[in-house]
Amino acid sequence: LQGYVGFANLPNQVHRKSVKKGFNFTIMVVGESGLGKSTLVNTLFNAPLYPPKEHVPLSDESPKTVSIQVLSTDIEENGVRLKLNVVDTPGFGDFINNEESWKPILETIESRFDAYLEQENRVNRSKITDTRVNACLYFIAPTGHSLKSLDIEFMKRLHNKVNLIPVIAKSDTMTNEEITAFKERILLDIAHHDIKIYHAQHYDCDDIETINETKDVMSKIPFAIVGSDRLVETSDGRQVRGRKYPWGIIEVDNEEHCDFVKLRQMLIRTHMEELREFTNDIHYENYRTEKLLAMGY
Ligand code: GDP
Ligand code: MG
Repeated sequence: LQGYVGFANLPNQVHRKSVKKGFNFTIMVVGESGLGKSTLVNTLFNAPLYPPKEHVPLSDESPKTVSIQVLSTDIEENGVRLKLNVVDTPGFGDFINNEESWKPILETIESRFDAYLEQENRVNRSKITDTRVNACLYFIAPTGHSLKSLDIEFMKRLHNKVNLIPVIAKSDTMTNEEITAFKERILLDIAHHDIKIYHAQHYDCDDIETINETKDVMSKIPFAIVGSDRLVETSDGRQVRGRKYPWGIIEVDNEEHCDFVKLRQMLIRTHMEELREFTNDIHYENYRTEKLLAMGY
């Protein structure tokens, strides 16, 4: 399992020419610091994309804005090449005034659309690099209360630009009952504020198994996740990725314990292609149309 990601098994996703040539997949992670974003990225890709934190001396000047950090890695499985990019947004929600926290993030997404548009307009379009953001994992603090105004503001500002996937961070800190109630509350808030989150589609031509799988994945949103890049030993002697508590172990890769497997399956196996399609056909297309209209075309 070590180092294996699983995207080459994409069952419903056609291995098109573009896929054989290698393709980009870009995930953005957003949420207050300490919610486990870096850990989740490492857990998802089973690789230390983020090296362990070194001791960083505190400076007098703490940053005043959200910064944008990009990590990339090339993965090849079964002859399929994937360039995986992670856009991290440290600083989001960490300031006294977070009113404009969404702004640098929106700008990053739009500048990536611009870069794509500019390449499309070139005479030679054979070598387009696609850095558009295909999915944005939004980390919700495991408070058990309603969404914060910061969460709502961010999602409202971004939902027309990117496939938004809300997740409940560090769900091992909540009981199953609390998670169920919190999920309901979050979905009510999302509906109340007319926020559009990513909805995986199933199609008439899909077989019943695929349809059920998609429905099952969708029923988990917002995914209650647990991240860990450490192996722990279970009472029956298995080495698993998980988190250890006095009362037992939460296994990351156990569907009974959290929704990590479902999230990973959706992102990497069943819906990677669809997330790329929605990015191009919906978010990018809307942006492009607006931009061209604004320019007087
Ligand atoms: P980031 O600031 O959002 O990137 O958060 P990090 O990934 O750096 O994690 C912050 C702290 O939370 C670290 O001590 C992690 O070990 C811990 N952590 C990460 N994921 C989880 C989780 O799912 N559950 C719990 N309980 N702790 C976590
Ligand atoms: Mg981090």
